[in-house]
Amino acid sequence: MKHVVVIGAGPAGLKAASTLGRRGVRVTVLERESALGGLAGSFDLQGVRIERYYHFICKGDDDLVETVEQLGLSERLHWRSSRMAYFVDGRLYPFLTPWELLRFRPLSLADRVRAGIAVQRARRMREEDLARRRAMEWLRDLFGETACRIIWEPLMRFKFAEYAPEISAAWIWARMIRLSRSRKSPWREDLGYLDGGSRTVFEALQRDIEKHGGCVRLGTPVEAALIEGERVTGVRAGGETLAADAVISTVTPVVLLRAAPDLRGEYFERLRRIPTIGIFCLFLRLRRSVTPYFWVNASDARVPFAGMIEYTNLNPMHALAGDRVLYVPQYLSASDPRFSQDDEEVLRSYTDALALIHPAFDRDWIRHWAVFRDRFAQPICLTDYRETTPAIESPVPNLFLTDSCQLHPHDRTISGSLSLGRRAAELAAARIERPVER
Ligand SMILES: Cc1cc2nc3c(=O)[nH]c(=O)nc-3n(C[C@H](O)[C@H](O)[C@H](O)COP(=O)(O)OP(=O)(O)OC[C@H]3O[C@@H](n4cnc5c(N)ncnc54)[C@H](O)[C@@H]3O)c2cc1C
Repeated sequence: MKHVVVIGAGPAGLKAASTLGRRGVRVTVLERESALGGLAGSFDLQGVRIERYYHFICKGDDDLVETVEQLGLSERLHWRSSRMAYFVDGRLYPFLTPWELLRFRPLSLADRVRAGIAVQRARRMREEDLARRRAMEWLRDLFGETACRIIWEPLMRFKFAEYAPEISAAWIWARMIRLSRSRKSPWREDLGYLDGGSRTVFEALQRDIEKHGGCVRLGTPVEAALIEGERVTGVRAGGETLAADAVISTVTPVVLLRAAPDLRGEYFERLRRIPTIGIFCLFLRLRRSVTPYFWVNASDARVPFAGMIEYTNLNPMHALAGDRVLYVPQYLSASDPRFSQDDEEVLRSYTDALALIHPAFDRDWIRHWAVFRDRFAQPICLTDYRETTPAIESPVPNLFLTDSCQLHPHDRTISGSLSLGRRAAELAAARIERPVER
């Protein structure tokens, strides 16, 4: 029986392993951490498992919805109407429906009308016409200077920090398209969540892998990918060597290249050059709600973050007995000094800002807090992504790799990673059944 090693038990790795298992291939998944899920993993909060970062589902997340159905979990997937708002210079404005957009005072009436028309125009554009344009310039042309400064610039800086001016217009266009698929009408946006969070799918995928004879080994970091005679032959993990007919890496490329430092050539050089940004996120379990909105964007010089997500306004999380969950994320390069600022300092400055958004906010509302960090959270979509994105099948025979950059211009999502994992598994299965003659 053929054996494939999958590195990483995030959505891509688990889906790759489950797809191979169903095709009769023996799989071993090796995961560095003690929990499943990668960036979508969860932690134990006073007996309740909660995701370290917020995760919502959109109507176009086909691979996720399909996986949920395949695993018999459809009853655990729920859709709810969600609301968003902008906090601009001390005031909170609802910002979803055409009516709310028309009443958005920070923009002149002419700019509001222009913004409505711009969104419709953007939806009719094509990726190939936008790929090489810079997002900030494109947004300025389409929405005008003021809308760009109040709406788009804070969003782009939040997501990409110093890389914001270099991002491809196709990335922001693709994000508009993803969210627009969740719109039933101009008046309503439906977002999804799973009972038990994303972990529900990951645990079911693990059971599926085990049912088909595979195994998932947590707390087992891969130290080296073994290449012999220019072909991958297995990995070394925890001092043990595991032979494999193929290896699928789902870890961020930097980590793979550390495990196989001798990999050379154009393909691996391109991998080395793809920039990635980190994340830190303040997690709060609160006694009271800060706003009725799922998502609040902030454009106010006194607020040190660009957005906050009150997750319980989407998923009520009954296990928390009425408590609220609020995430306040910030994307930053790991080399930025703010990335490693003291947790207490993050809590202090962020909660000072919460008191601007809800004047009655008091630190007594906090039942639990934590700051989570990941150095590699988001690959950067530059204007040359169509030429530089590496294929899933590497030039080293039987070595496959997935990374969220392969979804560009689309943002990275759980659904996207499930699709990459599935595609990597299909390629690996085809290759070990029909080896390449070299
Ligand atoms: C703040 C934030 C918010 C997000 N919100 C959403 C959202 O609302 N909706 C959505 O769909 N997506 C969202 N995402 C994106 C989603 O979490 C990711 O797209 C997805 O988790 C990526 O999955 P992956 O399997 O490709 O990679 P990862 O999740 O990065 O998994 C890689 C795995 O490899 C493991 N690993 C690393 N090194 C080694 C090693 N040496 N040996 C073995 N294992 C190793 C890691 O521990 C990890 O488990 C969000 C992400 C963040 C950070």
